[in-house]
Amino acid sequence: MIVATDRAELTAAREALGVARGKATLALVPTMGALHEGHRSLIRLAREHADHVAVSIFVNPLQFGPNEDFSRYPRTFDTDLAACEAEGASVVFAPDPAAMYLPDRQVTVSPGTMGTVAEGAFRPGHFEGVLTVVLKLFNLVRPDVAVFGDKDAQQLAIIRRMVTDLDLPVEVVGAPTIRDADGLAMSSRNRYLGPAERITGLALSRALRAGAERHTPQETLDAAHAVLRAAETADPPLAVDYLVLVDPGTFAEVRPSHRGRAVLAVAARVGTTRLIDNVVVSYA
Ligand code: AMP
Repeated sequence: MIVATDRAELTAAREALGVARGKATLALVPTMGALHEGHRSLIRLAREHADHVAVSIFVNPLQFGPNEDFSRYPRTFDTDLAACEAEGASVVFAPDPAAMYLPDRQVTVSPGTMGTVAEGAFRPGHFEGVLTVVLKLFNLVRPDVAVFGDKDAQQLAIIRRMVTDLDLPVEVVGAPTIRDADGLAMSSRNRYLGPAERITGLALSRALRAGAERHTPQETLDAAHAVLRAAETADPPLAVDYLVLVDPGTFAEVRPSHRGRAVLAVAARVGTTRLIDNVVVSYA
């Protein structure tokens, strides 16, 4: 496995693997490190789609707000490298921020209105930071395929939109959410949770399951809200940012008469940890 920390090393890796000469295909799995089983499942899926897999590990400062956890985001580089190697990645691209962003950089990628709803309403500038780094990674790594998790459903929808709207020559593949046995969606941020906080945090997946069992959008929202309301009085309490039922492609809220698929998405905080989760619901 080749570890590339700047553009020149990445170019050399593409050459060494035959990707630069069109002899082999490449799939990219972008991550912020602190890799868990969810990330590992993305690497395995990526291997099914290309001859080689590149994993990027980069905690992107552009997608964190001023009061978010950029400086304390978990960084576990050595175990991350071991995980990538064990899953059969051919390249890890781990640039430092100075290698990615010039001090006088100007241009970013706008997510449009899709970036201002749900997660975007609570994290202004977040999706602009995500799209900017993803486009840069696409241009640097030049993968044939890129794999992203359904866990970040709005991110995945906006990236698909960028690929369509900007005619990017990349195939985007979505990967199912991996959960712990208790239902909590795996996340690098779960390691912040104490035992009691984790129990409170289980309300997210419980609310989604309750909502997904219902047969109309209103019943779904009512059932999920009921679970979240109970958790708001738990000790420690859950602080809900949003619960929305949205169109999977646009993230616009669906009408009460909606038929077909919708995404039930939730974000909430327990203590200082912010959790997100979602599930696809189908209405006949
Ligand atoms: P992150 O390192 O949090 O930026 O995530 C990197 C990629 O892994 C993103 O495409 C995420 O959607 C995906 N991912 C994160 N958690 C999970 C999970 N529990 N199951 C599947 N994919 C995940």
